[in-house]
Amino acid sequence: MLRFAPSPTGDMHIGNLRVAIFNFIVAKQRKERFIIRIEDTDKERNIEGKDREILAILDTFELKYDDVVYQSANFSFHRNFAYKLLEEKKAFACFCTPEDLEKERKEAVEQKRAYRYSGRCESITLEEAQKRDEPFVVRVKKPERAIAFQDIIKGNLRFEPNEVDSFIILRIDGTPTYNFACAIDDMLYDISLIIRGEDHLSNTPKQIHIRNLLGYDKEIEYAHLPIILNEMGKKMSKRDEASSVKWLLDEGFLPEAITNYLILLGNKTPKEIFTLDEAITWFDLKNISKAPARFDMEKLRFINRTHLMQKDPQELAKLLQIHPSLGELAKLYLEEASTLKELKEKLDKIFSKQKDFKEFAQEAAILKNIIEKMQLPEDFDTFKQELMQQSGLKGKRFFKPLRLLLTGAEHGPEISLLYKYLKPHIKEVI
Ligand code: GLU
Repeated sequence: MLRFAPSPTGDMHIGNLRVAIFNFIVAKQRKERFIIRIEDTDKERNIEGKDREILAILDTFELKYDDVVYQSANFSFHRNFAYKLLEEKKAFACFCTPEDLEKERKEAVEQKRAYRYSGRCESITLEEAQKRDEPFVVRVKKPERAIAFQDIIKGNLRFEPNEVDSFIILRIDGTPTYNFACAIDDMLYDISLIIRGEDHLSNTPKQIHIRNLLGYDKEIEYAHLPIILNEMGKKMSKRDEASSVKWLLDEGFLPEAITNYLILLGNKTPKEIFTLDEAITWFDLKNISKAPARFDMEKLRFINRTHLMQKDPQELAKLLQIHPSLGELAKLYLEEASTLKELKEKLDKIFSKQKDFKEFAQEAAILKNIIEKMQLPEDFDTFKQELMQQSGLKGKRFFKPLRLLLTGAEHGPEISLLYKYLKPHIKEVI
């Protein structure tokens, strides 16, 4: 089973979406189940409604999942496993106050060494702890030996016991910490491969350590994806608007184009333009580059435009929420627009009631008058001739105001094609 495990603590980032896409693809390739695990263990950071937003985004991207589970529903399992570790003396109750720990931390800074928990509560037994009748956190004892594992993207990795440390598994209120809940749930749901961002790399030995302590002997594979950098080469963050999936959708990028782009990013693929279904036939985590990927807006725009071009006119009209008969016209404008929003702006200009005719206001008024009374011919040449004849206008003084009258813009697609597709609507447009 594979899982996508978002925390409902913020908006979906393209990095999260990339993780979801890759997990989905590999689950399909391996014919394994794919579940969504909402990691809602940190009550203070959870934001009401974010879980539903994330699920809605997964639906938009057609990343079909077999089940949704909430980590908080497994609290009793987490607690039972923590107590099992306490009873087996693999974990211990820790009574250190935040002030005690702060002191330890300061000492470490003064001595210019990395902070590690001192281990001062390590010898407190469970019986003693329960007798004290004071709240405590539960810490796991650090491993005795280094923890090594192989990452599909990063290769062989090894973490020393001190890097794992005696970390907290149950908070003072009895809720599990992220690392603990994650380790237990990956075990409970029989997860075979974990694909996630490399920001979790230092958590992995902690999670392996917990499963080792519990005697879980199934191997879980790992693939940690390199971070995505922005166009300035800095880690892409909330401040980069393009990092937000919602922003990209609002801007008129198609889900299939965003998916295509995120699969392409930092990857070796047999082609540049493809669908999710196609990617399932050749995707291989081994082709993902170890180096950070760099976000490239121009590339995304190119991919989006290519996917838009592949739509038939009716489909495009539906996406733009315009009359189906305007689909062909919208396609013409793909020459100069790369997103649905940009296309919509071009079309809105055509239908605008406040067109700016520049220095051709007079000529535009003449043409408008004639067209209004005209029986529109089938082809543009006849239309043009009749209009020239009746108006007495020609050359620049004919074509410029005509284009402005029809489209609200000075430049754009070939006028005869425009006429062809705009003809049924010309009287509404002028
Ligand atoms: N909840 C974690 C996150 O959103 C995911 C951790 C994981 O995949 O194990 O980053």
